[in-house]
Amino acid sequence: MNRKDDHMRLVFLGPPGAGKGTQGARLCEHFGLFHIATGDILRRSAGEGNPVGVRVKELMDRGELVPDELINELVGQMVTSPTVAKKGFVLDGYPRNVPQAEALDSALETVGARLDRVVRFMIIGTEIARRISGRRVCPVCKTVYHVDAHPPKQKWFCDLEGAALIQRPDDREETVLRRLEVYGQKTRPLFDFYSGKGLLTDLDAMGTEDEVFRRLLDAIK
Ligand code: ADP
Ligand code: AMP
Repeated sequence: MNRKDDHMRLVFLGPPGAGKGTQGARLCEHFGLFHIATGDILRRSAGEGNPVGVRVKELMDRGELVPDELINELVGQMVTSPTVAKKGFVLDGYPRNVPQAEALDSALETVGARLDRVVRFMIIGTEIARRISGRRVCPVCKTVYHVDAHPPKQKWFCDLEGAALIQRPDDREETVLRRLEVYGQKTRPLFDFYSGKGLLTDLDAMGTEDEVFRRLLDAIK
C-alpha cells in the first residue's frame, strides 16, 4: 500500500458466487482487517422478524437490492467507526451501485480516509453456476462451504457449530438469474466509476481457493 499508514481499505467487486466472501474472510484473518459483508449483515437483519427485517427478507429472497438509505447508513457508521478505521477493512457486497459508491466516498471523507483498491473478481458463467448451486452455509455462524470444493468434515454439518448446513433461499436458480441481471444493470457501472479513479484491479477468480488467495495477495501488494 502506498499510504503512510498500512491500513488497507478494500472493496471486492464481482458477481454472486465469485468467491468474494471466501477470500474476504481469509484475507481479513491474514491481515487482521474487518470483513464487512453486507449480505451477511442483511441476512441477520432479515432473521430478526421486525418490520424492517421482513421487508429486507422479501427483497433478498427475490434477488433485489435493499434500499440504498438503509445500507448506506449501516456501512457509513461501520467504516467511520474508530475501531474499523484503525484496522482497515474489506467491503464485500458493497457498494452495489453508483449512488452507494458515492455515499461510501462521502462517509470516508468525513474521517479523512479513502479507498486503496477495488478488486474485481473475474469468473466465467459456468463456474458461477457450479459454485452457487453447491454453496451451503451454517445457519448459526454463517461459515460458507461447497459440496465439492469445500465440504465440511462431517456431511452435512458445520465444522464449528455442528448445525445442519442449509442452502440460501436466494441461491435457487430463478433468483440467481435475477441477481445476475441486477449485477449487470446496477453494479457493472462501478467498473467505469472505479477505473476512472485508478482504483480497479482485476483478479482471476478461477481455480482453487488457495490459488485465488495467492493471486489476491499479489494483486493488493
Ligand atoms: P460470493 O461471496 O462471491 O457470493 P462465496 O465466497 O460465498 O461467493 O463462494 C461461493 C461458493 O463457491 C461457496 O460455496 C464457496 O465455498 C465456493 N468457492 C469459493 N471459492 C472457490 C474456489 N476458488 N473454487 C471452488 N469453489 C469456491
Ligand atoms: P450477497 O450475500 O452479497 O450475495 O447479498 C445477498 C443479497 O443481500 C443481495 O441479493 C441483496 O438483496 C442484499 N444486499 C447485499 N448487499 C447489498 C447492498 N450493498 N445493497 C443492496 N442490497 C444488498
